[in-house]
Amino acid sequence: MDFFKRLSLLVFIFSILFDSTNGSSVLLERAKESEFMDWMVGIRRRLHENPELGYEEFETSKLIRKELDSMGIEYKYPIAVTGIVGFIGTGRAPFVGLRADMDALPIQESVEWEHKSKVPGKMHACGHDAHVAMLLGAAKILQERKSEIQGTVVLIFQPAEEGGGGAKRMIDEGAVQNIDAIFGCHIAGEFPVGTVASRPGPIMAGSGFFEAVITGKGGHAAIPQHTIDPIIAASNVIVSLQHLISREADPLDSQVVTVAKFQGGGAFNVIPDSVTIGGTFRAFSKESFMQLRQRIEEVIVRQASVQRCNATVDFLTNTHPFFPPTINNPSLHAHFEKVASDIVGPTNVREKPPVMGAEDFAFFSDAVPATYYYFVGMATDSDKLFPKAHSPFFTINEAALPYGAASHASLALNYLSEFRNNLSNRGNVDEAHDEL
Ligand SMILES: [Zn+2]
Ligand SMILES: [Zn+2]
Repeated sequence: MDFFKRLSLLVFIFSILFDSTNGSSVLLERAKESEFMDWMVGIRRRLHENPELGYEEFETSKLIRKELDSMGIEYKYPIAVTGIVGFIGTGRAPFVGLRADMDALPIQESVEWEHKSKVPGKMHACGHDAHVAMLLGAAKILQERKSEIQGTVVLIFQPAEEGGGGAKRMIDEGAVQNIDAIFGCHIAGEFPVGTVASRPGPIMAGSGFFEAVITGKGGHAAIPQHTIDPIIAASNVIVSLQHLISREADPLDSQVVTVAKFQGGGAFNVIPDSVTIGGTFRAFSKESFMQLRQRIEEVIVRQASVQRCNATVDFLTNTHPFFPPTINNPSLHAHFEKVASDIVGPTNVREKPPVMGAEDFAFFSDAVPATYYYFVGMATDSDKLFPKAHSPFFTINEAALPYGAASHASLALNYLSEFRNNLSNRGNVDEAHDEL
């Protein structure tokens, strides 16, 4: 082989290597192009101006379908009232899911800006407007690279993340059948724009709610001996509930019990008949969660009886289903670290400590073999913290949108090609699941 042939062979090999390790950054460059960026920002702002609460995301869903139509992406609708499931790729296995939530919150926006919410008392204060824009961005990138997709990417736009169990309903209505792995992300003000963050294992807690009615016998506040005071009983119940964490839980197994609601009485001189208390409990394992549930009920009923009151406890599961903990699959974490390092550079892939907040993405763990949740940084200045999610002052740094779009697209694209490689290494490509 002469020198020039050798040289051209080397250049060819080098170009393949270069492409395979930097393919993901090309996706980011695409998402950052000004026309692409303007399109995503436009979607996010339109959604921000027109927030809709859980299971009412009709206009949001319409906007998404219009965008999918214009990209030529097929989808199923409606699923779980307003949900949409789109498909990009071969239409055959393997299947990988990408999920965005669509709902807003019952909050009056306090930020004065050009695209402020036009709906009184409703606001995208958790960034779900950005999540939709990022998933549509990923869809656009993936559709442009349709021929490279070695399987099918399933786009999941779900309603009612904020306590309405939208993910569970999507699953019940068949949205994730045959999906092998699913990725979800949330915008995060505590990390700088250009970074992504996550961790293997537990990342967000399981969550439940409770409400108890403690009943005594009302009467004159100056003649307590003729009453059975439920205010005293409820107060003791609340103090006793605090001991579940401080005395019964393993200090190394993070848990929370918070009484956030106390309603009873309306006059200075009347002891009421009953008091209603309510709150939430959190844990990172099913065992700890179920133990808390059992003990909350026992403590409320038995402690109330010490003061001669009756108590009933309702865990409100019909309206507020228990959220399981969000647990990241360790091999998907390795996948995330590799893909994200290609996009943002290894130093910009951060460790996210677990938090006691809950996320209904966790429901997918019951229905999909492997789940993974990560965060997309949006802070512009590490000294300036963004207002926390669910604040009326919550804002989004739109410069984060391309990072979410490119991460999603690249996680799915690379997952499918690796899945295919792993199967062919084992010589059983045909054993993949059936078509959807
Ligand atoms: Zn939220
Ligand atoms: Zn959220």
